[in-house]
Amino acid sequence: MHERDIFDERQETKQANFSCPHCRERADYDVRWVTRRKKKQAPQRLNEQERAQFQKSRDYMVRVDDMLMCKNMRCRKRFEIPSSQSVVFI
Ligand SMILES: [Zn+2]
Repeated sequence: MHERDIFDERQETKQANFSCPHCRERADYDVRWVTRRKKKQAPQRLNEQERAQFQKSRDYMVRVDDMLMCKNMRCRKRFEIPSSQSVVFI
């Protein structure tokens, strides 16, 4: 059973405020996430194990972006998203 059998997948953009580690300027950045929400109905013809897997699956989102480019025109350096959380249950 694949993830796509369990979840409906969608790309979303969420805004977050980060400060650049190079110039320390704060700005709002658009960060892309993929949200996976469990289908309302389990797929047909599941065996016992797959049904259990479907039951315990929870909605979650995965961060797509790792790097951002500083919005400060005098800086424009790339930096890593400081939040270590790249998978969040929703
Ligand atoms: Zn910067």
